[in-house]
Amino acid sequence: MSQLNPNITAIEEEGAFAVLDRALALKAKGAPIINLGIGQPDFSPPEHVLAAAEKAAREGPHGYTSPIGIPALREAVAAHVAGRFKVPVSADEVVIVPGGKVTFYFACLLFGGPGSEILYPDPGFPPYREAIRSGGATGVPYPIREERDFGFDAEEVLSLITPRTRLIIINSPANPTGGVVDAREIEKLAEGLLRHPGVTVLSDEIYSQLVFSGARFESFLAFPELRQRTILLDGWSKTFAMTGWRLGFGVWPKPLVEHVRKLITVDHSCTNGVAQMAGLAAITGPMDEIERFRQSFETRRKLVVDGLNALPGVSCRMPGGAFYAFPNIRGTGRPSRDLARDLLEEKHVALIPGESFGANGAGYLRLSYAASEKELTEALGRMRDHLNG
Ligand code: PLP
Repeated sequence: MSQLNPNITAIEEEGAFAVLDRALALKAKGAPIINLGIGQPDFSPPEHVLAAAEKAAREGPHGYTSPIGIPALREAVAAHVAGRFKVPVSADEVVIVPGGKVTFYFACLLFGGPGSEILYPDPGFPPYREAIRSGGATGVPYPIREERDFGFDAEEVLSLITPRTRLIIINSPANPTGGVVDAREIEKLAEGLLRHPGVTVLSDEIYSQLVFSGARFESFLAFPELRQRTILLDGWSKTFAMTGWRLGFGVWPKPLVEHVRKLITVDHSCTNGVAQMAGLAAITGPMDEIERFRQSFETRRKLVVDGLNALPGVSCRMPGGAFYAFPNIRGTGRPSRDLARDLLEEKHVALIPGESFGANGAGYLRLSYAASEKELTEALGRMRDHLNG
């Protein structure tokens, strides 16, 4: 066989999908699986979104759209983001893509290449590391710390910047921890970055509409001095329960949009037109359903965190956002990979070992509480039986 690109062959698949495959295989054999592994809301998109998709499926657009998105959607996204964060955003800065992942993937291609370094969170969303690798940059992990409620220390992040650093990926509220970075640390990072004009920030804010009482979220777009080197990543997946629709957006510094546009024409031409029309209905329509989703996650958060803290050898911080709990299981004396495997094989509870999210995730499990209260209670009971058994 011809030689393959080592940047691509070295890619590791996201652990959550491997757990999902195994859970589905066990389920097909009749096992009563409770899946707390995969990270997606267990709701349907709001009714008016479905109606808009149905209309678009009949009436179009059926052909290619502009590579960077239907103009009306880009306008609506600009107004939506500007309204949320009270900052000026123009449609020229908005790029519509098939899912949140595409924005950071393209950023890693744009800022990659031999000799460049990209900072990313550890534990963090695993595809960051792999996107960095496939773009040819060196990934430099920065620690996310439990004692900071799963936030970072801005000074520590800044200390990892070298003359080769091109991009820093930040993610708050975070996968896998649910942590919301303290607004003061975000401000300190922004202030410190003024000393590093060659570094751009990609702020993954895909969970930013899932923030719970006690936490304060600050968007990176709030810093006008850094606006020309900030890329905002967001999308419809988590906010509107639309993970399978593949719809996301980036707010990019204007000079980068032409490069992203070229990448899109090479890679996927444009985003599905029907999904874009559904996305337009979602962000211009009523938001009460979204608030209902958020409240429902907040109720489940308490149930899960209280339940986890009552388990022997387990302690769990109250996450500020998203729909993940990241319990510390060191007190059980069990490596997290073994515990996750046994819980799946013996108790049929699917969750993800923390080291799938980076070396600093060892000793933790990630549990998605996007499941019914009944399932969550049952899963916690099975975990208790296993740990007591
Ligand atoms: N960013 C984070 C932190 C995520 O957890 C996810 C999905 O799990 C994504 C981005 C990707 O979202 P999408 O499914 O829209 O590509």
